[in-house]
Amino acid sequence: MAERVRFENVVDGVRLGSADGRWIESANPFTGKPWAEVPHCGLDDVDRAVDAAHKAFVKGPWPSMTASARGKLLRRLGDLIERDAARLAEIEVKDNGKLLAEMAGQVRYMAEWFHYFGGLADKIEGGVIPTDKPDMFTYTKREPLGVVVCITPWNSPLLLLTWKLAPALAAGNTIVIKPSEFTSCSTLAFMDLIAEAGFPQGVVNTLTGFGSEIGTALVEHPKVAKVAFTGGDATGASVYAAAARGIKHVTLELGGKSPNIVFADAAIDDAVKGAISGIFAASGQTCIAGSRLLVQRAVYDEVCEKVASFAATARLGDPMDSGTQVGPITTQPQRRKVLDYMEVARGEGARCLLGGGTPDRPDLKDGWFVEPTIFADVSNDMRIAREEVFGPILSIIPFEDDEEAVEIANDTIYGLASGVWTSNIRRAFTMADRIRAGTVWVNTYRAVSYLAPFGGYKKSGIGRESGQHAIDEYLQTKCVWINLAEGVPNPFVLR
Ligand code: NAD
Repeated sequence: MAERVRFENVVDGVRLGSADGRWIESANPFTGKPWAEVPHCGLDDVDRAVDAAHKAFVKGPWPSMTASARGKLLRRLGDLIERDAARLAEIEVKDNGKLLAEMAGQVRYMAEWFHYFGGLADKIEGGVIPTDKPDMFTYTKREPLGVVVCITPWNSPLLLLTWKLAPALAAGNTIVIKPSEFTSCSTLAFMDLIAEAGFPQGVVNTLTGFGSEIGTALVEHPKVAKVAFTGGDATGASVYAAAARGIKHVTLELGGKSPNIVFADAAIDDAVKGAISGIFAASGQTCIAGSRLLVQRAVYDEVCEKVASFAATARLGDPMDSGTQVGPITTQPQRRKVLDYMEVARGEGARCLLGGGTPDRPDLKDGWFVEPTIFADVSNDMRIAREEVFGPILSIIPFEDDEEAVEIANDTIYGLASGVWTSNIRRAFTMADRIRAGTVWVNTYRAVSYLAPFGGYKKSGIGRESGQHAIDEYLQTKCVWINLAEGVPNPFVLR
């Protein structure tokens, strides 16, 4: 048996396995073989992690630390991420099979969130309220919520954690991180940087294990104040329900079936590249995947042909290799799901333009690959146009005019992202107004920034990550009334 790397949790500043000594194997999607193991935590471990975070919130150096000092820790953490980005990216690739080129850039970019929210930490201000009661001095304070649980999925574990962790820490909360059971290693490796940056013990803790075993207990835990979740919509709904039972704050970043709309007046070659990057980057395993390509009839045949020929040149291979353009699917169950959807699409009468199965190459046989796949002549009522696949399957849907484009684009339970390709400025603004989604990209796709809010309309989620207001998701407002008058008037009457 090949040597496995063992990653442990961090609870109250101490590295440890699970209370009962069990481990979960972590497999490399390119080799199909386990390469590491992480603690298989149970209910006792939930209490241990939450208690540590709660203790750090109420006692010790963290609650009395100035906001400026907190900000400094976050900025130092950002610097350490820049230093160690290559190492963390490699761990991420071994776990999730995404391209090293993409992961290295993504991890390096994560540093900006810590620098940015580090800068915001000491700009959290309350206000003085000029109330109608002249003998009262009334002011507000904005305070942290308490223990925040960050639950992350397998597709971009560290980036999606960063979107939660940076604002939550800047606001003064303490944290329990529950990474995906498939991709916990990079999060556990990242914890070395938390310690090196100088965060006090217990401020950030990790808890690895299966969501089905420990997720509900974690969300319902009476000492947890907020859950920041990214994952599938069915899981999101159960997290929301569990949080409701305990009246907890939540943010939910869920799935999508995002429309990427090509008008006949667009720069077609750019739109083709936008369509490719929308669905084949990260093997389609992104919540913002432009999985529905809506194409105006006048250019429909041309776009179908160009997208299929471009995608046919994609180089599948080892994600560690700089020449690879499409890597494997992260998990075996997800690969099965993607392949099943190919059958669904065929059964519904969609026309397969490219791919449609697994690559027939001996060097890829151990990895969890599927072919970049394109279905044309899809109608928006087919399952392939309605359900999130989370894989490299593009559905191309024709439309006549702006009205029909809007109607199809919005005919979905989701509303995470969207793309519009046009050279008409009036059309660009009108579409941006009319599409019901948290992000609209015009003549580009997949741009995100620490400065810009991200989140979903409809079933794609609740709340926003990144940008100035993300910090509000981790704060609550207290109103303080100071009576400046002598004595207390009639105690039986509300003043
Ligand atoms: P998932 O919902 O299966 O799991 C997400 C996380 O939730 C994991 O850590 C899992 O262990 C945990 N979990 C599972 N059951 C739980 C429960 N009952 N209570 C609490 N936690 C539980 O999602 P996944 O398969 O890891 O990720 C893919 C999904 O994530 C896709 O549907 C995708 O659209 C979504 N996603 C959304 C965004 C976004 O920002 N909107 C970003 C990336 C991924």
